[in-house]
Amino acid sequence: MIRLFVPNDLSAGAGVVPTVDQSRYLTQVMRLGVGAELFLFNGRDGEWRTTIIESTKRGCLLKAEEQVRPMEFGPDLDLIIAMVKRSRVETIVEKAAELGARRVRLTQTRRTNVDFLKLGRLDAIAIEAAEQTGRLDVPTIDDPMKLDKILDGWDADRKLIFCDEGGDARGMTESLSGTSAPAAILIGPEGGFAPEERERLRSLPFVIPVSLGPRILRADTAAIAAMTLWQAAVGDWR
Ligand code: SAM
Repeated sequence: MIRLFVPNDLSAGAGVVPTVDQSRYLTQVMRLGVGAELFLFNGRDGEWRTTIIESTKRGCLLKAEEQVRPMEFGPDLDLIIAMVKRSRVETIVEKAAELGARRVRLTQTRRTNVDFLKLGRLDAIAIEAAEQTGRLDVPTIDDPMKLDKILDGWDADRKLIFCDEGGDARGMTESLSGTSAPAAILIGPEGGFAPEERERLRSLPFVIPVSLGPRILRADTAAIAAMTLWQAAVGDWR
């Protein structure tokens, strides 16, 4: 069944006018007409069985019929990624949505060499991935922020899992034992973390430095591996 994310409030009988792209997708790509059913979710009201009640060249009108799943969120996991080249960030955002991250925070570190990314496009990638996965929310994509600023404003209740390519950290699974959500995973840039950044991170009480094995992984591979290990050890894969 088709699932679409909409910003509208969802309740019994609520009318929803999908975007032009969503209308085109429903009527021209999926060739659905009046009476056809799909699911809508908005990240607040759960999932709703919905019917197409009008369909014209200008677009279609949907009506929410019944809630089929109450609102629920996955484990509280953030992913903090140093800005790497656009195609890799897009892959990381898609995988973060699939692997259950609640929020993706872009960060500028000493060695990031990318300073601009189209956030609108990243939001669209996150929505499309969320629609495909069955989750009831869409991960938020935060504007880029310097790593020092993120650490200055850190909520100490949230553990920061620091993926440290330096080679002297314990393995991730071993390091995660006894930890729980909320948590965040930090992935560095292609050039890695600068020594002063590693020093600051390792001096912070909420930071857990971890190794992802003896080989240096690309940032996107490291992000996928770390989220996978976290979900298996602490999250909703247990
Ligand atoms: N240029 C760096 C180097 O040669 O040491 C590699 C950086 S790596 C491409 C990008 C990020 O992925 C790292 O900053 C780290 O956060 C993560 N990463 C990659 N391999 C890792 C490993 N074996 N253990 C822990 N983190 C790793």
